[in-house]
Amino acid sequence: MEDCLFCKILSGKVSTKKIYEDDKVLAFGDINPQAPVHILVIPKKHIVNLNDVGEDDIVLLGHIQVVISKLARNNKLFDGYRVVNNCGVDGGQTVQHLHYHLLGGRVFGWPPG
Ligand code: AMP
Ligand code: ZN
Repeated sequence: MEDCLFCKILSGKVSTKKIYEDDKVLAFGDINPQAPVHILVIPKKHIVNLNDVGEDDIVLLGHIQVVISKLARNNKLFDGYRVVNNCGVDGGQTVQHLHYHLLGGRVFGWPPG
C-alpha cells in the first residue's frame, strides 16, 4: 500500500516514536496528541477500517485489544482511559489504515464531539 501513511510507518519510510511492536501490531505516539497519553495501535496488515474486517481478523482484533490493555497498564492509566476507533467519513477517519487511539491521563467528556 504505497500511498498509505501507516504502511509507510510500518516499512520505516516515515519515522515515529515506536512504543510497542510484535508480529501482528505496531504502537506509536500520535504526532498531534490530544491527551497526556495518546498512542495509536495499528495492525501490520493493511485494513482500511472496520468496514473491511471479517471472520479471518477475529484473532488480530482480539490481540489489538489485549495490547491496548497492556499499554494502558504500562502507562499507569489505572483510573481509566478511552479507546477510539474513527471509521469512515462520518467517524472522522483521516488515515485510511485501521487504527485505535489509546487516550489517557485526563478526564474525557461524553458525548464526544
Ligand atoms: P484518525 O483521525 O482517527 O484517522 O486518526 C489519525 C491520527 O493519526 C491522528 O490523530 C493524527 O494526529 C495521527 N497521525 C497523522 N500522521 C501521523 C504521523 N506521521 N505519526 C503519528 N501520528 C500521526
Ligand atoms: Zn496501510
